[in-house]
Amino acid sequence: MWESPELSCIAFQRYGKPAILAGSKLIRVYCMQPYQDHAPAIARLAGEIVDRYESVVGRVEPLTLNIAFAEGDFPGYFSDGLILLSSEDLQNYARNTNIRAFYKLLAHEIGHLWWHPAMYRLEDLVGAQWYVEGFTEYASVWSSGEVYGVSEYERRLDYAMERVRNTTRLKPMSEYSYWDYSTIPYNKGFMMLDSLTRLEGEEAVFHFMRSMRDAVHDAGRDRIDAELAIRVANDVFGKDYSGFFDHWIRGIEPVVLRIVDLKDTGADDMRLLTLESNQTLPMPLEIAIKYPDDTEVVTPSVKAGRPEIAVPVRPGASVIELDPRRTLFRTEPLLQNPSMTLEPSAQTMR
Ligand SMILES: [Zn+2]
Repeated sequence: MWESPELSCIAFQRYGKPAILAGSKLIRVYCMQPYQDHAPAIARLAGEIVDRYESVVGRVEPLTLNIAFAEGDFPGYFSDGLILLSSEDLQNYARNTNIRAFYKLLAHEIGHLWWHPAMYRLEDLVGAQWYVEGFTEYASVWSSGEVYGVSEYERRLDYAMERVRNTTRLKPMSEYSYWDYSTIPYNKGFMMLDSLTRLEGEEAVFHFMRSMRDAVHDAGRDRIDAELAIRVANDVFGKDYSGFFDHWIRGIEPVVLRIVDLKDTGADDMRLLTLESNQTLPMPLEIAIKYPDDTEVVTPSVKAGRPEIAVPVRPGASVIELDPRRTLFRTEPLLQNPSMTLEPSAQTMR
């Protein structure tokens, strides 16, 4: 319906409300009857979302944003400053039902102003959905969390992890195209940035997201791939992020982490805990060793093919917990259940 400029013009004249200045943008909202009176409030909501994004990733073009609702059942659509939502979305908004879902959808589509390179066609974005959709999804969930509280963010994160865990035919994110109609790059891309936030903090991650946006813009139809993310991340964070993005964008093999040994060293009843992993983990692994009076936390890096991750365990240790705060296992969808029991010693791991 939007392919013909004449047709869309007619529709706009019939349904459009005058543009309002909201946030830094001119925003027009086109609602079908009998919902036209909701247009100004939706424009203001869109303006708030724009403001919220601009406060963390700065301003971007274009100045004008058109939001239209159309008949039919389809997910949100974005193309270069035009956002198309369905009549059902508008009805939900008007009835004040499922308002969080409406906010989240609108925030996602508006987020594409930052993370959707206008000069790329969909076929140019094969393998780049982790960027276009994943970054946008992270931003929209972050924005939802700002409005509805951290519990809303956590709920969305849990949902994303469930979706990824329950997918039987997982491909590397670098192999998805829009024709797969898969939510994996949305959810896993969001989880990747959540994981990065746990490592670097929110502000630094927004700096990275803005830098990625600029790099994609400057690249002008170059490939948006893991190499680009690694280059930008190394620059922004000042350390080597090749393992992290390799793991998230190109990997699918489940991480297997297991205890090899808990053996006596012969010295002062000290024992040595040895772990091995089949691949490099994207974050340091926290291990809590509980003693009667205190808990010692060690954070070794786990590298692929290097089984000797040795952790000294002093006498009197009662429990050894891997990832006690669940910072790693919570966001790592590929990791198998870490619970294990040590035999024949009375030590337990969970
Ligand atoms: Zn999208």
